Formats: sequence, C-alpha cells, structure tokens
Amino acid sequence: MGEVSFISLPFQPMKSMKTPFYFSTAIMGEYLASLFDGEYYLGINSLHSFKQYSDEECNEFVEKFDFINRKKIYFDADYIEPIKEIIQKLYVAGDIQIRTESTAVCDCGRAEITESEIKRFNEINMDMQLAGEDEEGLKCRVCGNKLEFKLRKSLFLKIKEEELNEKMNIHPDYLNSDVNHFRKSLQGSFLRISRERNTGVVINLDGQEFNLDIDMLWKFIPICIESSKIIVVSSVKHLFPLYIINYLAKIMDKEVYFVGLPFIQTSEIGEKVMDFYKDNAHRNSLRLLVDLGIGWNKKNIMLQESTCKYFMSSKDKNNELIDFIYKAKVENEDWNLMKKSIISYTHLQRVIGIKKLQNK
Ligand SMILES: [Zn+2]
Repeated sequence: MGEVSFISLPFQPMKSMKTPFYFSTAIMGEYLASLFDGEYYLGINSLHSFKQYSDEECNEFVEKFDFINRKKIYFDADYIEPIKEIIQKLYVAGDIQIRTESTAVCDCGRAEITESEIKRFNEINMDMQLAGEDEEGLKCRVCGNKLEFKLRKSLFLKIKEEELNEKMNIHPDYLNSDVNHFRKSLQGSFLRISRERNTGVVINLDGQEFNLDIDMLWKFIPICIESSKIIVVSSVKHLFPLYIINYLAKIMDKEVYFVGLPFIQTSEIGEKVMDFYKDNAHRNSLRLLVDLGIGWNKKNIMLQESTCKYFMSSKDKNNELIDFIYKAKVENEDWNLMKKSIISYTHLQRVIGIKKLQNK
C-alpha cells in the first residue's frame, strides 16, 4: 500500500488532444507525486452512458501519456465491484434510498433531470448538460424535443447536514469559500445516483434493478484506492464533483485531500509546451513552467508566450524552485505568479499534511 497517492479523475478517451487540459493535469499529478515521493494514478474513463470505448480506443489514448513516467493507469471499469459493495452498504445504512420523484424526461432517453436537480443547477449556476431551457420550456439538447415531467423511481443519496458542513481539505485555500454555495444548495437534499436509461452498470437492491449513473460512479473511485493518504488532483472546473467526492469520503470515514488546478485555455502555446515537455532534455524546466506558469490562484490561465519562450530557450536544467526564481529574467506579471506559487507550496504542504518537499 502506497503512503501518498495522487489521483486524477478519469479522463475521457478523446481522439484529438487539442486542449492541454488533460496533459497539464497529468503533468501536475506526476510532479506532485515526485515532490512528495508518492504514487500517481492516471485514470481512464472507459465506461460511458452512451458510448462504450473499445480497448483499442482506450489504448491509443493511454499511449498519449507515455511521456508521464511515474504513473499507475487505472480504468473506471476496474472499480465497478468495490463501488457496488459501497452502494450496498450505504443502502443498508439508509444513506442511499429508493425514491420516486417528478422527473423531466425525453423520449430519446438522453435528458433526464428531476425537479429538485433543476432547482439546484439553477441555484449554483451550473450547466444542466443534456437539458436546456428556452422561452418554450425545458428541451433535450440531443434531439431538441420538449421534456415532459413523469414520476420516476431512482436511487438517491441522502445528504446529511453534519458531514456536509465539515471543512473540505482543498488547496488553494480560496476554493473553500467557493464550495459554500454548493453546501447551501445541497442542504437537506437527495442526490440521484441512478438513471432510467441503460448505463451498462446495473445494481440489484431488494430485488429491484437500477442503472448506476456513470458520472456518479467515478466519484466513488478515490475512496476505493488503497493508500494511507489520497490526494485528488483536478481542474477547478470540476469543483462540484470534487465537493461530492469530499462528501462521499466523509460519510465513508475516509480522508481525502484535494488540489484544484487552474483550467488552461490556450491550445497553441499549450501544445508547444507539451511537445517540449515530452523531450526529456527539457523535462525539469518544463515541469516548473507548467507549475509556475499556470499559477495556483487563478481559475483560468493563459500561459504567457514570453514564459514559454524563456523555458524553451533555457539551457539550465536546475529545477530547484528558489534557484529558478533568482535566475529567471522574466516580466513582472510572471514574477508575481511565481511569488504566489511559493505561498501556494507552503499552503499545499499544510493542507495535505506533508511537511517535506523532495529535493529534486
Ligand atoms: Zn431527446
């Protein structure tokens, strides 16, 4: 059993990797694992409600991460049985219940959203994904048909106030104030964990069959990892799922920590950076570039071209943080990001309860 495990949420196998989003998450996961001498779990989403990925598609996708040396690949499908066991336990304990709720559904089977979910999505200003609203009412985003309300029986996770109000161990710190409005909207509510449509993962409870929601299923994975310390590394774009994982961990008495990374939006610069990173000669300085360049106190980041160019031309492979900062001749804006990063490190160590950074 590993001492410290950093885990990224399962990536969906995509043919084109224009966005540096997955790569930067994987780079940071590996980087943090090396700093704290831990394992890095890189996840692949092979299950999907609408499309089952072939082994070939998954393998092709995994190959894109060949340049990440320190990793353990996991598939969401590997965790189906342990997750079903957890759900069974939670059902017996009364934390998971069978309920019939008014649900807006589409004939095509894609859009499916309960009245209380609609209310919550509106409160926290979150996208309803497969359903959208216009002046005519709720519509399915897949086929465009109007949604109709019907009574549907589903599995729900009962949200308990005690665990909901516990502090989330997340870095950077400002994200803790961001999760407060999730807390308010979830108060006294039920979270749906099954779907009417066939998701390919069926659980039988008291002789009734339910299709588990794949987007809910992978949220149980971090609590299934065998390690004395679990740290989920993810983009802050996924703050709501992270908060749900935090809640699941609390009710299962597991300690899970979180690192929220900014979302990198530029593709062109990002791609250049990733190409250079894949070249081993540049590994050390580029790790730092991704780490410092993205900064940890912003939600959305554009990598500055000047910073990228500086790193790409750098002959000095010494990646020790302080050394780098003294040597760097960079613009003011970048300098401020770096100062923030040092503060971030101190906070990160405190949040995840690990004192020493490895001296790489
Ligand atoms: Zn539809």
